[in-house]
Amino acid sequence: MSGIAGKVVAITGASSGIGEAVARLLAGRGAKVVLGARRTERLAALAREIGEGAAHRTLDVTDRAQVEAFVAFARERFGRLDVLVNNAGLMPLSPLDQGKVDEWDRMIDVNIKGTLYGIAAVLPVFRAQGSGHVVNIASVAGHRVGPNSAVYSATKHAVRALSEGLRQEAGPALRVTIVSPGAVESELAATISDAELKQRMIDYRRIAIPAAAVARAIAYALEQPPEVDVNEILIRPTAQPT
Ligand code: NDP
Repeated sequence: MSGIAGKVVAITGASSGIGEAVARLLAGRGAKVVLGARRTERLAALAREIGEGAAHRTLDVTDRAQVEAFVAFARERFGRLDVLVNNAGLMPLSPLDQGKVDEWDRMIDVNIKGTLYGIAAVLPVFRAQGSGHVVNIASVAGHRVGPNSAVYSATKHAVRALSEGLRQEAGPALRVTIVSPGAVESELAATISDAELKQRMIDYRRIAIPAAAVARAIAYALEQPPEVDVNEILIRPTAQPT
């Protein structure tokens, strides 16, 4: 199936920011969207707004069984699954000296393991179908490392590494796309627990571009013909130097 209309697209982290924008844009172009995240009321409101082309299910990507159930739900609801957007993520930045090990664990669990659980859940489905597309949201932080960002950057480097490994193993039937955004309007900075760092990040993110810009990049990868695999897209605000 080429193009976007009629594709069934499951999106993790669809309750705000990039995931929500992806759902709106793809649904507007005729895709069926399946929304997953923990904040069920937000998902329900978004699904109501989109209409019959949307379904939602509560999802915590750190729970492998829930990720499998999410994928099964998408297939039951719309009869197939064409695309998984592994978007759920968090970014509680901090210097390593603060020893916020619980936050490190959380980033590893959501950003890396959540993405892996998504891949594990869809691969057998895509193999059986003979088609499928995994879109993993990494980050510019998956290309570079800065102070306060060691663990977050490590998780996003990992997302890029496992995406590239998957792409090489995928063969000619499956497509794998990494999308690496720079500063994008969303609720991401809210996960920073250090008050001063959070304010600095909020100030820095004044140059952020709308989440719809990332949604358009994802749509570009999806709408290519099946033999064209857009491997990675880096997308930053024009005003973001690094
Ligand atoms: P938001 O905070 O707005 O969205 C994050 C989404 O992830 C929410 O929908 C949240 O939903 C979901 N989420 C968090 N934890 C879990 C979980 N355990 N299970 C299921 N869903 C979860 O930020 P963004 O839209 O910016 O983030 C989306 C992705 O984009 C992330 O992977 C982020 O790292 C990446 N990114 C963002 C950039 C930016 O500048 N905004 C730049 C580069 C990358 P809920 O809380 O309801 O579960």
